[in-house]
Amino acid sequence: MLLGCIADDFTGATDLASMLVEHGMRTVLLVGLPERQMPVGDTDAVVIALKSRNIPASEAVKQSCAALEWLISKGAAQIFFKYCSTFDSTDEGNIGPVARALLERLGENFTIACPALPVNGRTVYRGHLFVGDALLSESGMEKHPLNPMTDSNLVRVLERQVHEKVGLVPYEVVEQGCEAIGRRFATLRAQGIRFAIVDALCDRHLYAIGAACAELKLVTGGSGVAIGLPSNFVRRGLLKPDCQVNSLGAVEGFSVVLAGSCSRATLAQVDYMRRRGFDSFRLEPLKSSEDELCDAAVRWALPRLGDKPLLIYSSAQPEEVAGVQAYLGRERASRLIERVMARIACKLVDSGVRRLLVAGGETAGTVVQALNVRALQIGRAIDPGVPWTKSLVGPPLFLALKSGNFGSEDFFVKAFEVLK
Ligand code: ADP
Repeated sequence: MLLGCIADDFTGATDLASMLVEHGMRTVLLVGLPERQMPVGDTDAVVIALKSRNIPASEAVKQSCAALEWLISKGAAQIFFKYCSTFDSTDEGNIGPVARALLERLGENFTIACPALPVNGRTVYRGHLFVGDALLSESGMEKHPLNPMTDSNLVRVLERQVHEKVGLVPYEVVEQGCEAIGRRFATLRAQGIRFAIVDALCDRHLYAIGAACAELKLVTGGSGVAIGLPSNFVRRGLLKPDCQVNSLGAVEGFSVVLAGSCSRATLAQVDYMRRRGFDSFRLEPLKSSEDELCDAAVRWALPRLGDKPLLIYSSAQPEEVAGVQAYLGRERASRLIERVMARIACKLVDSGVRRLLVAGGETAGTVVQALNVRALQIGRAIDPGVPWTKSLVGPPLFLALKSGNFGSEDFFVKAFEVLK
């Protein structure tokens, strides 16, 4: 294994894994902390998806260190710690404490922190994180329910988390390229600085930063900075350039879309698939019990399984969702529909469904858990950040897991076409 990655949430892990595959690395994603003997086959990179973004810092450190031990035991040459491109964290952590613990365990004294993801409008300039045209603290992230980001100066944010001076590799150094960045790393190291925020405005900067990080045992950042890492392994002759690593082969079986997301993009995707004449079934949580909802959906689906994908959805407009939540309670409504989706998924897989697309971050998490999917090989991206994946344990199963607002309007239909 060349690159061992620890991601602080599931969709972020998928995004990173997809990025690595697109840049020529065979990549396996592990859901949660793997058992010691978890088979990952012949792979260049492993991404361990934790759920450590919003848990107490001490627990995040514990889980991340356990993931690190697993990656070290499998011979990972370099470690990447992946977090959100909006640097989601609080003064308590978890980015700083986790990065520090990983650095110390690796016996290293320097790493970078670079959440830039220019393709999605996340750029870092003079240590300040921008989301599109707005500073992070004016981007809406200042109102985030769990980790409000009220300070856009990441040097300051990280200093509060690690309780030590944090350095900066500014734009004009990054612009000069890999060697200048490397010299700046050396200067900061000589000053006893262990963490540096790195400016990046475009993918060219990310490639230069990646090249400058070739000798670092630990790199931390958003998925963007990972695009510059694979070519380090190519240069050393450890990775073949331009090889086809995104093929998952083929799988026989039926295709189904389960949509439990009510986000705007998902609503448009549901609408598009229905307009295109695909059979669809709508779950109506106010009308029936959990058992009745499951039974009705499965009874509807089984005789219709065939060449064309089926759509089962609970996605509804905001006013309908508000009605359901007012009646059942917000939490209860969510959990009910997630459980129903998970039970339907299990029944359908038992009945020969082998290509399953799940829309909704929480919904996808619940379905993956219910199917006991622990390891996924990453295939080609349907849209940026959303790849097809193949379960490596149990019956062959292709899964596409899409968080609500990802994907173009034709995503559900296109997803099955790219497999042909
Ligand atoms: P997204 O990625 O779009 O946020 P999630 O799956 O994470 O999607 O969250 C959507 C939540 O809404 C889930 O908890 C799901 O169970 C719930 N939900 C889905 N359909 C409905 C509905 N018709 N009424 C109320 N809640 C719903």
